[in-house]
Amino acid sequence: MDSGFDLSFRHHHLLGIEGLQPYEIGHVLDLADSYVELNRQPSKKRALLDGLTQINLFFEVSTRTLTSFELAGKRLGADVVNMAVQGSSIKKGETLIDTAMTLNAMQPDVLVVRHQESGAVQLLARHVRCAVINAGDGSHEHPTQALLDALTIRRRKGRLEGLTVAICGDLRHSRVARSNILLLLAMGASVRLIGPPTLLPRAFESYGCQLFTDMAKGLRGCDIVMMLRLQNERMQGSFVPSVREYFHLYGLTQEKLRHAAPDALIMHPGPMNRGVEIDGVIADDIDRSAILDQVEMGVAVRMACLDLLTRSIRGEAS
Ligand code: ASP
Repeated sequence: MDSGFDLSFRHHHLLGIEGLQPYEIGHVLDLADSYVELNRQPSKKRALLDGLTQINLFFEVSTRTLTSFELAGKRLGADVVNMAVQGSSIKKGETLIDTAMTLNAMQPDVLVVRHQESGAVQLLARHVRCAVINAGDGSHEHPTQALLDALTIRRRKGRLEGLTVAICGDLRHSRVARSNILLLLAMGASVRLIGPPTLLPRAFESYGCQLFTDMAKGLRGCDIVMMLRLQNERMQGSFVPSVREYFHLYGLTQEKLRHAAPDALIMHPGPMNRGVEIDGVIADDIDRSAILDQVEMGVAVRMACLDLLTRSIRGEAS
């Protein structure tokens, strides 16, 4: 597929949004746009990655991300292997590096890695020769999620620059929030973060975000409302008094949504907890909710990332 780019994407790995230039983000989104069109055709296969091997190494559970990386690789013609690594008794550091070296010896071309520890994917990338894509590391980054969110917004709103995006909920433990903040600010959007004080790190102010503990104030006039799940698996102790109270104060309801712009788009990376961070009726509102668009964009964005990161192996300019 000809992307028509004159500028290159010169990264060997995709470990985070941090370090990407706005034009590189634009590259990925433009290329992903063309894959959205391909994915809507009855015949979705391309032989671009023919002969290449992609290993999806997931130390943490996943539904959307794993499936979409598998589909993305297969649609581009790669041999795709899924490895779910769970419940190992070996020490984490040793397991990770040993696993990296073992997989490296099998000569893969791309490793897609999810790990529960922040920084683990970067560590692994130092021990392998192939391209590594971070599919989520602890509460650090989830770059392809931010890219697919950006593609969703760009297709629905026509731009990213100048929009006001509210990200609401468990900001403290969310890798989705961190990658989105970096991407949205780089692309010229304004970012508001809304959540209970216990889940809203003040450090985000220094990134250039505005912080709110009150949904009505934070949502006022915003164009995009991005809801986050409470990341209970990363919490030690209790950060909210009760789920009922959390929903009352921070769950997205029709009433709270009235504070946002009349055409505000609702987003959620999934998995969604109806009645906790979002009212089910709003999530299913096909005019307002872009949640299923996000899933569709996920496959296209991951195809674009696989395409760009394997261009040097395939002898193509990026
Ligand atoms: N699926 C996203 C992630 O892996 C969001 C979530 O789990 O809440 O980070």
